Amino acid sequence: MIAGNVPDEGYPIPLIDPGRCDGCELCLRVCPTGALAMEAGVAIVIQPMACDYTGLCERVCPRGAIQLPYEILVVTPENRSKVGGKIDKSR
Ligand code: SF4
Repeated sequence: MIAGNVPDEGYPIPLIDPGRCDGCELCLRVCPTGALAMEAGVAIVIQPMACDYTGLCERVCPRGAIQLPYEILVVTPENRSKVGGKIDKSR
C-alpha cells in the first residue's frame, strides 16, 4: 500500500510505500529541504509543503519505495498566483 498525504491545498507530495521501505535513510540524506523523516523504521514525509520536487529521493531509493506524483497545470492569468510559488523555471 502506498502511503502519503496530500495537504489541503491539493499539492502532491512524494508517496512512500512502507512495505518496500527498508529504512536505509538514503532519501533523508539527499533531501535538500528536510521534508522527510523516519518513523517506526520507515521514511515518511514530515513536512509536505517543504518538498520542492527535486526528485532526488525517488532516484536514490534502492527499493523503489518512493514515487513523486506529478500534476500538469496549465497556468492562466487567473490561476497564476496559486501555482506561481511552485514553478521553478530553472529546471
Ligand atoms: S531510500 Fe527508500 S528504502 Fe531507504 S529509507 Fe528512503 S524510502 Fe526507505
